[in-house]
Amino acid sequence: MLTFLSMLPNKLLNGWYLLHCNHHMSNNTPVNDDDYGDESGSDSSSNPTNLPVLYDVIIIGSGPAGYTAGVYTSRAKLKTLIISGTLPGGQLMTTSEVENYPGFPNGIFGPELMMNMRQQAERFGSIITDDEVVRVDFKQRPFVITTHSQIYEAESVLICTGASPRKLGIPAEGRFAGRGVSYCATCDGPFFKGEDILVVGGGDTAIEEATFLTKFGKSVKIVHRRDSLRASKILQDKAFENPKIKFLWNSVVADIKGGKKIADVIVKDINNKTEQTISAGGLFVAIGHEPNTSIFRGQLEMDDKGYITLKNQTRTSVDGVFAAGDVHDYRYRQAVTAAGFGCMAALDVEKWLTERKQQQQQQEIPKRTQYIQERS
Ligand SMILES: Cc1cc2nc3c(=O)[nH]c(=O)nc-3n(C[C@H](O)[C@H](O)[C@H](O)COP(=O)(O)OP(=O)(O)OC[C@H]3O[C@@H](n4cnc5c(N)ncnc54)[C@H](O)[C@@H]3O)c2cc1C
Repeated sequence: MLTFLSMLPNKLLNGWYLLHCNHHMSNNTPVNDDDYGDESGSDSSSNPTNLPVLYDVIIIGSGPAGYTAGVYTSRAKLKTLIISGTLPGGQLMTTSEVENYPGFPNGIFGPELMMNMRQQAERFGSIITDDEVVRVDFKQRPFVITTHSQIYEAESVLICTGASPRKLGIPAEGRFAGRGVSYCATCDGPFFKGEDILVVGGGDTAIEEATFLTKFGKSVKIVHRRDSLRASKILQDKAFENPKIKFLWNSVVADIKGGKKIADVIVKDINNKTEQTISAGGLFVAIGHEPNTSIFRGQLEMDDKGYITLKNQTRTSVDGVFAAGDVHDYRYRQAVTAAGFGCMAALDVEKWLTERKQQQQQQEIPKRTQYIQERS
């Protein structure tokens, strides 16, 4: 193909290029050029004309999945934009020590880990903009991505918007998050050795987490707003048999007390409205996650809980749109798995773009030959 192009006189080539690539040129945005590599490290996409800017790949979300994907796509010389959302760095920005991310034998603080990942993505040329996507249009090509301040175009899109843990919604919750209140037993359980622990929830996750936490805690009490569990029978049976687990039925957490760390949890009986104070070193909230997918509704296939469904590893129902991390993975929900999915999706994006380019070039040869014949 390259040989064929190099044989053509420049004049004809330029004429053909202008004819067929006019929509790219109208944006004054060269496609796949190298200029963007120099602009890494800041949102160099500011575009006063507000015209769309075309990227090879736009990554939506900047948790471990998004940044890892950015490292791979920009290192592969794809023009990459990462739109970070309202939580640049993702969920690990809300935690302190991370002990289970490989490569850090003494652990690392979540925000530090995520800043490192951000810098690594920028080092290879990813452009990162701290903005939020409010609308996507996957029915057009290139795809159109709209943020609060800008409209972008992308040949391919990688969705890494994660899933947010559901909160109790009581005022003290935020104050004690990371100070005894946790949303992930796998992540934080080992920090609670010898503590009295409360777990809120009644589904599979809550019961699994409570059972896991008995490895570390002195006692585990499950606070559940109903008088029976929703969890599967097998998990329930295991929990009922576990001498360390007790149940507080028909109950909700009304308040949390403490100083620098959680000390007491106020639990309210929703039937008789009485409250009791339970001393606890940890409170695990396991009432589910909310996938951040509302902006993709009607454009992509999702399951009944709103998680993006995938085929062929990382592909969504729209050709050229990929997803990685907690936005589709409700099973593992770990930083390292999200990063792994980000890597997989980035490799798939690269392959997809290469194959598409080859297909387009093959389709263009007859058109180009016809154009040349008409001119000669
Ligand atoms: C408190 C806490 C502690 C944890 N501790 C650990 C731990 O120790 N070890 C571990 O392995 N895992 C831990 N986890 C789990 C881990 O954080 C997640 O599994 C991981 O962050 C998922 O990565 P992700 O990239 O898929 O999504 P997230 O990290 O959730 O990132 C999602 C990203 O999408 C962005 N976004 C969302 N909507 C939009 C939008 N409309 N436009 C643009 N961007 C958008 C957000 O701003 C964010 O940057 C913890 C989780 C929590 C909540």
